[in-house]
Amino acid sequence: MTKGLVADIQRASIHDGSGIRTTVFLKGCPLSCRWCHNPECISFEKQIMFYPEKCIHCGRCIEGCYSGARVVCGREMTAAEVLAEVTEDKAYYGEDGGVTFSGGEPFAQRDFLNEAVDLCRKNGIGCAAETSLIYFDEEILRKLDFVMADMKIWDSCLHKEYTGVPNEKIKENFKRLNTLGIPIVARTPVISEIEQGIDKISEFMRSLCNVVKYELLPYHPLGVAKQQALGMETVRFAVPDKDFMTELKSKYEFDTGLSVGQI
Ligand code: SF4
Ligand code: SF4
Repeated sequence: MTKGLVADIQRASIHDGSGIRTTVFLKGCPLSCRWCHNPECISFEKQIMFYPEKCIHCGRCIEGCYSGARVVCGREMTAAEVLAEVTEDKAYYGEDGGVTFSGGEPFAQRDFLNEAVDLCRKNGIGCAAETSLIYFDEEILRKLDFVMADMKIWDSCLHKEYTGVPNEKIKENFKRLNTLGIPIVARTPVISEIEQGIDKISEFMRSLCNVVKYELLPYHPLGVAKQQALGMETVRFAVPDKDFMTELKSKYEFDTGLSVGQI
């Protein structure tokens, strides 16, 4: 069995798709969004995260840190080991819930993702993915109940400046995904300092008949402490004002009212 590198498995999530879900965060992403709230999922390698404020200077680092100051991010797991963990939550999934593979970019560990999705489905667990759509893997996509995908910035040059990659392929992959008939939940993280072209993104999403919902998510500085713990350069944006978000949402968000199972 292929081994995957898993950053974390979060249980009882209600923010990663429909119903109650278990979210499996895979390590590795070819993008490097400056506002990334999971910077520990960008590298494809295991990493040590150090939180100095939690260190009690006990000098026992070699034995393992019990104060949570020094944390290893990245666990090699087989798909069967992932299944064993997510099965513990199966009773809570109901009709809509299941597993969301996230990251990082889950499709970057393609073979592992494929095996994990197959095993979950064989065991009656629904699967979804949260992806940047930088990849388009039709074989895996067709096995998913729905896909959550971001369009972060409309202008490709600006997209490259803030995420490290241009966005032509991502736009194309949104169109290709739309033709597969898989429900799409589209999202944009809102960074008020950047001209993201949210009006154009919203218009684009409305033109895709399988986008059941378009959501605007306010930037949250959750990733800054993790950037520090990883020894990365820290980047902090302003948290968008509540009134600004309300106005933006009323203009550009939409919800077709269809559940992800209704396409
Ligand atoms: S084991 Fe943890 S708390 Fe102890 S010195 Fe090392 S990092 Fe600090
Ligand atoms: S695509 Fe997602 S995981 Fe990758 S860098 Fe951007 S925000 Fe982080």
